Amino acid sequence: MTGIPADGLVRLSNLVSRVLAPNPGLMRGNGTNTYIVGTEELAVIDPGPAIDCHIEQLRRAVGNRLRWILCTHTHRDHSPAAALLKQFTGAVVLGCPAPADERHDQTFCPDKVLSDGDRIVARKFVLQAIHTPGHSSNHLCFLLEQERLLFTGDHIMQGSTVVISPPDGSMRAYLGSLDRLLGLDLAVLAPGHGSLIDKPYDEIRRLIQHRINREQKVLAAFRAINPAGLDDLLPLVYEGLKADLLPAARRSLHAHVIKLVEDGLLIQRPPGPGKTGANSVVWDFVGMSEETVAHATTIGWTSGMDMVSDIDA
Ligand SMILES: [Zn+2]
Repeated sequence: MTGIPADGLVRLSNLVSRVLAPNPGLMRGNGTNTYIVGTEELAVIDPGPAIDCHIEQLRRAVGNRLRWILCTHTHRDHSPAAALLKQFTGAVVLGCPAPADERHDQTFCPDKVLSDGDRIVARKFVLQAIHTPGHSSNHLCFLLEQERLLFTGDHIMQGSTVVISPPDGSMRAYLGSLDRLLGLDLAVLAPGHGSLIDKPYDEIRRLIQHRINREQKVLAAFRAINPAGLDDLLPLVYEGLKADLLPAARRSLHAHVIKLVEDGLLIQRPPGPGKTGANSVVWDFVGMSEETVAHATTIGWTSGMDMVSDIDA
């Protein structure tokens, strides 16, 4: 496909088209991908932000054929258009409710709450929900069985790693969800941001390795400073990162630290006298042997690890 046609609808396969929402940004690349699946009966995946021109474009594209509106998760660049699109088309909204977290679209109200393994069965296609917590606790990927194409939402983006923001985001869950995808039969990934990814297993392994390498940097930083807080660790773990990316990096760093606490490698110290707030929290490293470090990187998500070879720091 070269260029974007005048109607903004990019055809990706026999069953899948894409409309790009006009919400570019630092963590969103060119904007949110809204996918349209099907021919006679249609499903929309991630309707995107409630921006009038985007919703109008979707209305024109789906006409009176839209039956399902699916949301991978409820961050505000993915789900807010669901209610308006439902109002205009009468389609059924499917997904998981928003957790009580300020980053989520609290207006999202699914007609049916999806669970792992649920299948949306149309005459010409089937979409299967795959629960992939990590980026958000309520995240779903959707497998288009006829094309072995996985809509990955923000579980996997093209061109960038995703932010893991505690407390709703979890690094341990994220790695487990990446590992799980290695067990699926996949031909291509369709991310919530960026282009199609046509070597799914290479990309999934690369992402797992990327997080392992980052975790090793966190452990190395504790060799320099111990105990340490997030602001001590940040310049060591994300050395040279552009300033506008540091707040997001700090949240993912926190997610790594929480995982290392869960692994038993760090313990959180109580704040000292008179100290309050997030910046007063520090952690102690409590296990420096190489054996322990190796153990930490494999706990809970070992099955795909022996296949990892790509190093991406
Ligand atoms: Zn998101």
